[in-house]
Amino acid sequence: MCFYSNKNFLLSVSLVFCILGIGLISNADVYTDNLAKGAKTTKKNYMNDPFVRPAKVNWLVQPETWPIDFNRGPLDRSPKNKSSKILTMGTGDPTPNTYRFGPAMAIIVNNYPYFIDCGEGWFRALNRSALTQKGMDLTQVFKLNNLKYLFITHLHEDHTVGLPSFILSPYKYGSTTNKVIFGPVGSENLVDCIIKGWQVDRQVATQGPMHATPEGNSAVVGEINPHTEFSGPIFEDANVKVEAFRTDHAHGALRYTYAYRFTTKPDGRIIAFGGDGHHSKGLVEAAKNADVLVIEGCTWKNLKYAPWGGKTLKEKEKIIGAYHMFPKDLKKVQQDSGVKNIVMVHEQNYSPADSYSRLGLLHEMQEAGVKNIYSAMDGDLY
Ligand SMILES: [Zn+2]
Ligand SMILES: [Zn+2]
Repeated sequence: MCFYSNKNFLLSVSLVFCILGIGLISNADVYTDNLAKGAKTTKKNYMNDPFVRPAKVNWLVQPETWPIDFNRGPLDRSPKNKSSKILTMGTGDPTPNTYRFGPAMAIIVNNYPYFIDCGEGWFRALNRSALTQKGMDLTQVFKLNNLKYLFITHLHEDHTVGLPSFILSPYKYGSTTNKVIFGPVGSENLVDCIIKGWQVDRQVATQGPMHATPEGNSAVVGEINPHTEFSGPIFEDANVKVEAFRTDHAHGALRYTYAYRFTTKPDGRIIAFGGDGHHSKGLVEAAKNADVLVIEGCTWKNLKYAPWGGKTLKEKEKIIGAYHMFPKDLKKVQQDSGVKNIVMVHEQNYSPADSYSRLGLLHEMQEAGVKNIYSAMDGDLY
């Protein structure tokens, strides 16, 4: 069991011990460096970025987006006896936030990347990860022609708005690889619209002085069969096997949402990406006895501060609860699935401004009984 009950830097010391006990490892050098930097700032650990404290908090200036209480840069928490890695490039949600790019992950196997979701700023997030993550040389992993496979958990805009640049940016630097994208019903239409909508951009690159190759600026899409809860393996190569499971984040037109279960062949890790949503049979199956579940989290304690989901707390409980993962739900997912480690991303940490803590939601999850859970930041390795 590992609980971090206090909010200061000491929690990282316990974190190191906890992590060692469960197979994920902290990078003490990176942490120590950042601790040293943080120690030079104020007690609230402000970054050196310009900051005007807003007179009134609203959706645009949520406390979690302020340049305070950041006590670290990207960590390498991956187990050293395993070669495959999870890169949490973008750990944000729809909230405009300079410090968390939109949802975008990658699993790296045999130095080859497979992307999961493609949120706002994923290309910049990749750039920053490559410049800040000391645990591995990401420039050797994300070679231009390696930007190819993408698995979309669901078609909410925050998880897909990076698609145009995923399809159309790499070829400007010489990529000749067309993209291969898996996702729910509707993915093909979305990609078709992007190909049509950005016709001018594609023609400029191929017909102008750049003389870019017409290869590498398109995509093929594999839509997951909507008629089954468990699709079976949807993709397999020498590195990974990928299975898709229907999850529960579905409302109205958004009927099909998925968790992906990756089995890595060289080192036998099982890593599930849950996307958004609360406890469901499919999510539990996807994470069954997995090494890691990468999943969203939403506060219960501070739900009244959420800038969406209705006016009253009762409305927010109903509306946000229909979409997202409260601590008691995540505890049940862990109990039912037996998943060993949880990497929390897409945090809805609606702390009040006066008592904001970047780790507030992590502590809330731990207090609810969720074990071996980590609050991911952009650029971490797990
Ligand atoms: Zn989302
Ligand atoms: Zn969503």
